[in-house]
Amino acid sequence: MQQFPCPFCGPRNETEFHFVVEAGHSRPEPADQVSDAEWAEYLYLFKAPKGAASEVWVHLTCREYFIMQRDTQTRAVLGVQTLPGADL
Ligand SMILES: [Zn+2]
Repeated sequence: MQQFPCPFCGPRNETEFHFVVEAGHSRPEPADQVSDAEWAEYLYLFKAPKGAASEVWVHLTCREYFIMQRDTQTRAVLGVQTLPGADL
């Protein structure tokens, strides 16, 4: 089992985390003026890079959201950083 580093709690088992979204993937606004194609792109199309990726994750135990940089090919965690204002 892989360990992920929560920036608030330290290393924990990967089962305590949930992937949220690719970092920088934001909802198009105003939603009522967005075309169907733009909305579908927002909902279903992601970059999904092979290699270095920056993603928003949540640690389910402390409920904190943060950004994790990881290599999607090797699964290596490259770094984590807090996400200011993301206390949802
Ligand atoms: Zn945590």
